[in-house]
Amino acid sequence: MTDLPLDFGDPADLERLRGDFRAWLADHPLPARGADEPVPVFLHRWHRMLHAGGWVGLDVPREYGGRGLTPLHQVAVSDELGARGAPGVPRIGYLAHALLKFGSEEQRRHQLPRMLAGDDVWCQGFSEPGAGSDLAGMSTRADRGADGHYTVNGQKLWTSYAQYSDLCLLLARTGPSASAHTSLSAFVLPLDRPGVTVRPLRAANGDDEFCELFLDDVRLAEADLIGAEGAGWKLAMTTVSYERNALDTGHLSTYGLLVERLRRRAHERRGSLPDGLLSDIGRCVVDYGVLVAHSRRRTAERLAGRAAGPESSVDKLLMTRTEQRLYETALKVFPEELHGAGGEIFGDYLYSRAASVYGGTSQIQRNIIAKRLLRLPADGRG
Ligand SMILES: Cc1cc2nc3c(=O)[nH]c(=O)nc-3n(C[C@H](O)[C@H](O)[C@H](O)COP(=O)(O)OP(=O)(O)OC[C@H]3O[C@@H](n4cnc5c(N)ncnc54)[C@H](O)[C@@H]3O)c2cc1C
Repeated sequence: MTDLPLDFGDPADLERLRGDFRAWLADHPLPARGADEPVPVFLHRWHRMLHAGGWVGLDVPREYGGRGLTPLHQVAVSDELGARGAPGVPRIGYLAHALLKFGSEEQRRHQLPRMLAGDDVWCQGFSEPGAGSDLAGMSTRADRGADGHYTVNGQKLWTSYAQYSDLCLLLARTGPSASAHTSLSAFVLPLDRPGVTVRPLRAANGDDEFCELFLDDVRLAEADLIGAEGAGWKLAMTTVSYERNALDTGHLSTYGLLVERLRRRAHERRGSLPDGLLSDIGRCVVDYGVLVAHSRRRTAERLAGRAAGPESSVDKLLMTRTEQRLYETALKVFPEELHGAGGEIFGDYLYSRAASVYGGTSQIQRNIIAKRLLRLPADGRG
């Protein structure tokens, strides 16, 4: 366990919450996944169970379907789940923050309770074949007609789990491309609208996480716009800032379990593990410790009411480094997990390679740190 929040808030209150959650978990164990049940469908079932128990959206205001508690309470729940190796609370925190900050009152009251309950599953339609890191260069357009409706045309790519989703947080260009950062707008796109085609892509490891999303003359109403026209860039930056935080993604306690396994193995096999491997394990322990300390700091900032900003690029780099080194080392220490039914670490190792790409690549995080945190002068190469 990360033991993350003990020096914040009211420890007795948090301990009570943890106790209640442990009692609930004892009565509601993680169900078994059906033989042919796709992972997203299984996780959705778990999401609904957690929500029915009152364990989703703890830090979302009550009027929008949450429990009006603090981010610390949600972290405590994630921590308990991670410590049992159970899937975390669904990764919707970043979408919820975008709606809380930019959505109209009507959107917040309608969309947030449904999102938290899993009544609507959302995906994120930002990246395109020609616009990933350079999001501002996207070409999907939403043109407003005389009747106030928008007509959307374009293509999105890498849209995770769109085939299992009901709604998409869509980013499209509504203004002239010269003013990239003020010409993007965000929409709620129902995926069953005429003109929307979702095509899953099969990845090399057999997964079908990614989708292409084709948009041909899709009609959207003004009420589908999130925030003002032209506020899409700011909304996207808010979304990815929350997406880059180890707390919001609930990864910390999962890493913690593996660090513990590595540490135990290092003690058991102290004499027989090669020195290089011992120092790799040592590095994992240090990386993880740095990430936990850093996450504590973020928690304190969040509790003080500070919104996520460019500092989250540091979080993302630390998270990526910890995750990739951890699984690389684990594969060397537990080579048996490369094969057979127990090969869970191998799957996680493969997925960890994507950590330096999704949510913005590591190079892009370094650019953000250089420009926005260190204020280094541009080198003229963008
Ligand atoms: C597992 C996974 C899930 C994803 N899910 C979604 C999703 O649900 N929705 C969605 O919209 N997108 C999603 N993505 C897409 C992801 O956001 C993009 O892959 C990412 O932003 C990089 O864009 P790109 O693939 O077009 O690479 P490119 O932008 O083409 O980058 C290629 C390489 O060039 C480097 N590079 C580019 N520009 C610069 C620069 N200015 N300075 C230095 N280096 C640079 C990059 O770091 C990278 O190494 C997902 C990606 C992955 C891997």
